[in-house]
Amino acid sequence: MRVLVTGGAGYIGSHIVKALLQKGHYPIVLDNLSKGHAEAVLGGELIRGDLGDPGLVQRIMEAGEVEAVIHMAADSLVGESVENPGKYFRNNVGNTLVLLNAMAASGVKNLVFSSTAAVYGEPCTSPIEETHPTCPTNPYGTSKLMVEMMLPWYERAFGLRFISLRYFNAAGADPDGELGEDHRPETHLIPNVLQAALTGRTVEIYGADYPTPDGTCIRDYIHVADLSLAHLLALEALVAGQPSATYNLGNGRGFSVHEVIRTAEEVTGGKIQVRIGPRRPGDPAVLVASAEKISAELGWHPLYPDLHRIIATAWHWQKNHPDGYL
Ligand code: UDP
Repeated sequence: MRVLVTGGAGYIGSHIVKALLQKGHYPIVLDNLSKGHAEAVLGGELIRGDLGDPGLVQRIMEAGEVEAVIHMAADSLVGESVENPGKYFRNNVGNTLVLLNAMAASGVKNLVFSSTAAVYGEPCTSPIEETHPTCPTNPYGTSKLMVEMMLPWYERAFGLRFISLRYFNAAGADPDGELGEDHRPETHLIPNVLQAALTGRTVEIYGADYPTPDGTCIRDYIHVADLSLAHLLALEALVAGQPSATYNLGNGRGFSVHEVIRTAEEVTGGKIQVRIGPRRPGDPAVLVASAEKISAELGWHPLYPDLHRIIATAWHWQKNHPDGYL
């Protein structure tokens, strides 16, 4: 199948492109390379361009004979979204509108949308099920929820079916060692901790006064290869005619920042220097998924649910690529 992957040169997108190639699909990647890396696109076609350009997107849809879309292109930093909400509404909502209009105009009817646990905001139950109320506490989560709310209207008007995947914390690296996480600047916990292990730098813990057993935030870390697998299953389900749906993607188990650091020390065999800093705006205390719905309906079962293994794959990449893709 010919699949347009927006943001396919990014961390998660590049792993999905690899999974598509392994299944014999043809990925057409649209990425402005503002954060992605051309070297991370292991096959198919890479078009460097802006999703906000309606003419370009329409041309790709038609000339590329696109049959389905995996839409990953987005800004995704909670803290930045609080500082600069306009960027998030323009890039995450406005550009998605361009994509949806091009899909409607070209009759492309299958969309896998990359959503987020941030749509839930501060949860009132844990683990979080898909029926939990959505009440984002930052513009990033709001921008993704706005897209989720647009999708059923495009289905009604144009027959566009979708699967929205609400990711919890994507982590780890390609188990074959070909791909990994390379953000500039890096803001995520696991790569920051591993870079600290390599360089002796100090990791800042964003708040140790949360209402959790050790005072640090708890997150559900999911291996990027398991996320990729879910996208493939979603794509196949849509093409087979499954109705539109929204699913959580996590392992159903949470780990605190302290626990992640301890596990990273086991994996790397060294002591990691930490210092406690202030809370980061927009961070809920605990985010843990119930992924029972996607397991039951799409048969998704994670291959790498173990935190030690997740961090070990990230460490393997980090050690072999201390300068990322450079
Ligand atoms: N975090 C931290 N220090 C860092 C990076 C992250 O304490 O250098 C915390 C952050 O506050 C959150 C958790 O680690 O509670 C995971 O953050 P990350 O940025 O990796 O993912 P997010 O939860 O924002 O998607």
